[in-house]
Amino acid sequence: MDVFLSEIPEEGLHLEGEFPPAIFELATEDPIRPAGPVHYEATIFAFEEVITVHGRLSGPFELQCGACLEYFPYEADFPHWSSELDREPDQESFDLETLVREDFLLNLPSHPRCDEYVEGRVCPKADLVEEFSDEADAPDPDSPRPNVWGALDEWKQ
Ligand SMILES: [Zn+2]
Repeated sequence: MDVFLSEIPEEGLHLEGEFPPAIFELATEDPIRPAGPVHYEATIFAFEEVITVHGRLSGPFELQCGACLEYFPYEADFPHWSSELDREPDQESFDLETLVREDFLLNLPSHPRCDEYVEGRVCPKADLVEEFSDEADAPDPDSPRPNVWGALDEWKQ
C-alpha cells in the first residue's frame, strides 16, 4: 500500500486499517505464524530528510516456544509503535505494508517461552533449558557454553 508523500499534510497524515496475514509471507515452519489480520494506526510526517511513522500495531499470532517448540497464541499489541525512514531526494511514496510487516517482525519476542506468555502453562521442556542456563552462569569463564539446542535434539530421539 503506497503512501504518497505529496499527500501528507504538514500536520501529519492519520491512517488506520488492517492488512491480511498473507503480507508476512512466512513459511509454515517459521517460529512466527500470523493468525489473523493485523491492525495499524499510524500518524505519518514527511520531513525533508526522513519520514516518521508512529501509532499502534496489534494482531493475533502464534509463536513457537524456544524450549518445547510448540506453538502458543500471542496477541501482539505495540501501543508505542514508531519508525523512521530515510527519505531519498526523488522519493514519491513508501510502502506502508512493508513497514508494518517489518516492524511486527522486529517487535515480536524472539525465542519466547510458552510458560512466560500463557497463563498456567508449564513448558514441558522448561527444566531441561533451565538446567543448562544455570551452568552458563557458572563463574569459570573458560567453560564452554552448553549447547542447549543439541541437548533438545537428544531429548527428541
Ligand atoms: Zn514451551
